[in-house]
Amino acid sequence: MKTPFLTLAQAEKIAQQYPTPFHIYDEKGIRENARAVKEAFSWNPGFREYFAVKATPNPYLMKIFQEYDFGFDCSSLTELQLADAVGASGDHIMFSSNDTPAEEYALCAKIGGIINLDDITHIPFVEQILGAMPETMSCRFNPGGVFVMSNGIMDNPGDSKYGMTKAQLFDAYRQLRDKGVKHFGLHAFLASNTVTNDYYPELAGHLFTLAREIHEELGIHFAFINLSGGVGIPYRPEQEGNDIRKIGEGVRNVYEQILVPAGMGDVAIYTEMGRFMLGPYGALVTRAIHEKHIYKEYIGVDACAANLMRPAMYGAYHHITVLGKEDAPCDHLYDVSGSLCENNDKFAIDRLLPEIEMGDLLFIHDTGAHGHSMGYNYNGRLRSAEVLLREDGTAKLIRRAETPRDYFATLDMTEFADRLL
Ligand SMILES: *Cc1c(COP(=O)(O)O)cnc(C)c1O
Repeated sequence: MKTPFLTLAQAEKIAQQYPTPFHIYDEKGIRENARAVKEAFSWNPGFREYFAVKATPNPYLMKIFQEYDFGFDCSSLTELQLADAVGASGDHIMFSSNDTPAEEYALCAKIGGIINLDDITHIPFVEQILGAMPETMSCRFNPGGVFVMSNGIMDNPGDSKYGMTKAQLFDAYRQLRDKGVKHFGLHAFLASNTVTNDYYPELAGHLFTLAREIHEELGIHFAFINLSGGVGIPYRPEQEGNDIRKIGEGVRNVYEQILVPAGMGDVAIYTEMGRFMLGPYGALVTRAIHEKHIYKEYIGVDACAANLMRPAMYGAYHHITVLGKEDAPCDHLYDVSGSLCENNDKFAIDRLLPEIEMGDLLFIHDTGAHGHSMGYNYNGRLRSAEVLLREDGTAKLIRRAETPRDYFATLDMTEFADRLL
């Protein structure tokens, strides 16, 4: 059972001020979860979550995370600029990027962020741009092959473009050490959207063992080990969510087994969660504007894949609640579609929902991460507003909806924009 964090009355009131569709975020849920994450890893004095900015690059939400002393994981020029704009700098910025352009390394160095190298060939590249190597550097590991966890969940790092091989990793740390780097980090991202409390502990086990080997062979000091993202959320109502306290305890067990006996009990644990930090605390609110009865029953809504791409792109499941009909029987089979001239523009296919009437508000769950941020302008569709539902129940606009003027903004304004109707 999935419960919206918004009632019909609240949603209608907000929609009067900010017309649908809009993404809305639940400040109360965000804060409770942020506190739980901090507590789960409080056994590790250096622990820090670097919120993965790409999941939801909104400075108002980033500011909330700063109250918990979180940092930001960035992977592009504008994400670095956003982190800088909210006042983050130095060790509160992690730059985990790949195929990185020169100016992005330059900006990262300027604001003092920590560079997490995706590839060994980037060592001379970074050196050429920065002149000297920063004191702290991190490297990203890719073990190759197939990553299978004890519960059978697997991912396929051998097919992924990220990170370095084990042999390259030893070589990279040796080169960096010889270039004067003093403090080192180790990072790997091996599985995405895992809903098991075992992912982080199992990943940590691999990384801790590897860090120990590297430390013993090269004598370098690991300042941190970065478990990256990948902690998932239960998109489907029958799924059980992760328990961050159990995850934190699981990581602590392997830390005490592997790192502490090796004299590495000062290593800080970093995480770079995006989805887990915001996914469940965001929703797309959209109104039913058409019903169509052909070979299937369609409900047309005023949002489309340009507002939420995951269902169209990966066939991702997003639960839908018809607001005000939470307790009504789900006895109508619908495809819920948007207006793009693309047949994959469907938020739900063959979904049992209560009978939907025109004007009903649909609450599309779990859009808080990789939702608005993956928006685009295909078909000239404009991205929706983002609204924050504050703890006191009031709504604050944290990003206005795009207007046609925004769509025209990259054209020669004098020639074309004056003609905007
Ligand atoms: C996308 C990404 C994350 C966040 O992943 P989630 O699954 O949203 O937690 C963290 N680190 C890096 C390097 C990423 O690319």
